[in-house]
Amino acid sequence: MLEWPFFEDRHREFAAFAREHLPEADGDLDERCRGLVRALARDGWLQHAVGESLDVRTLCLARETLARHDGLADFAFAMQGLGSGPISLFGSEDQRARYLPAVRSGDKIAAFALSEPDAGSDVAAMTTRASGGRLTGTKTWISNGGIADFYTVFAREDAGISAFVVEASEVEIAERIDVIAPHPLARLVFDDTPAEPLGPPGAGMKIALSTLDVFRSTVGAAALGFARRALDETLVRVRERRLFGGPMAELPLVQAKLAEMALGIDASALLVYRSAWAKDTRGGRVTREAAMAKLYATEAAQRTIDAAVQLHGALGVVSGHPVEELYREIRALRIYEGTSEIQKLVIAGQTMAAAEA
Ligand SMILES: Cc1cc2nc3c(=O)[nH]c(=O)nc-3n(C[C@H](O)[C@H](O)[C@H](O)COP(=O)(O)OP(=O)(O)OC[C@H]3O[C@@H](n4cnc5c(N)ncnc54)[C@H](O)[C@@H]3O)c2cc1C
Repeated sequence: MLEWPFFEDRHREFAAFAREHLPEADGDLDERCRGLVRALARDGWLQHAVGESLDVRTLCLARETLARHDGLADFAFAMQGLGSGPISLFGSEDQRARYLPAVRSGDKIAAFALSEPDAGSDVAAMTTRASGGRLTGTKTWISNGGIADFYTVFAREDAGISAFVVEASEVEIAERIDVIAPHPLARLVFDDTPAEPLGPPGAGMKIALSTLDVFRSTVGAAALGFARRALDETLVRVRERRLFGGPMAELPLVQAKLAEMALGIDASALLVYRSAWAKDTRGGRVTREAAMAKLYATEAAQRTIDAAVQLHGALGVVSGHPVEELYREIRALRIYEGTSEIQKLVIAGQTMAAAEA
């Protein structure tokens, strides 16, 4: 894949670096997450996730490599980027100086707080209010909630939806939420909470959508990494496992499944890196390409991982087996940063608009 025309030498060099510096960390969930952020900072990964000119191909190569290795490592990397993305893209010079070096060095953990109990896909239904630099309302499903040092938060004020930075010491963690593939996740309550404006009043939707425009293709890249790991595990298994007097890999129906897995992986990679390349080289918004990359890669990875579980037989559902972990890990990617259904609406809208132009 690295020979594809989407990549330059610096991407091939980064991919080689990434394979040699896979992060490890021990402890409970929060300790592992903090340890992974420290390891990613120490080895230089985070410099690619934070800053004014984000190279989306590098972000995608990073997420693909980390997800193939460990879902939580991918999560730790992605959230440092997404949580600080609004500051990278729209922060004042002073905000960039206060937050970005600390996110890059792993001294501050970042989070991105957009969703609310009654405003997920329908972001415009948000009810968190901002007035006089103070926030009141509830955000939920917030990744890194409980371990973040600061939150970029979106709230409604008279000028429309605006973005803010809120220090963690000011935020009430109302609930930690357990999910099928454990990540730090929380519901946050703001009760007349001091918040610093980020970007102009009323520019919140533009800030959120521009940030997601950079990071949405990277969700597809993470899905691609999970799918590659599922195929890696499966290729080992079907060669070793003997069925009906020969290696399982020689059975035609098994080969049909392997072919579908390989095809899904290549098609996902093409869409993910097409989108990343378009963003890096053309600039501006890549709404259509990013929606296609995210939709296709996450759905294809779900099918690939399901096939991997099936080809492992009972072993595939044993708790802690890599394909069982992948089966849980992939699911949320079809929901967060815009569900599959919302990506379809976006693609249809863009397709119809292009036909009318
Ligand atoms: C693990 C995880 C981490 C997350 N991290 C963050 C985070 O860090 N920050 C953050 O702000 N949010 C985060 N989220 C929230 C996520 O972005 C929302 O869950 C997502 O946007 C969907 O919103 P919802 O859950 O309210 O579902 P809903 O919006 O209620 O949607 C329910 C279902 O209806 C479907 N649907 C919606 N509209 C239509 C339509 N027009 N036609 C047909 N079907 C439709 C959806 O696709 C979905 O299948 C996270 C979620 C998860 C699972």
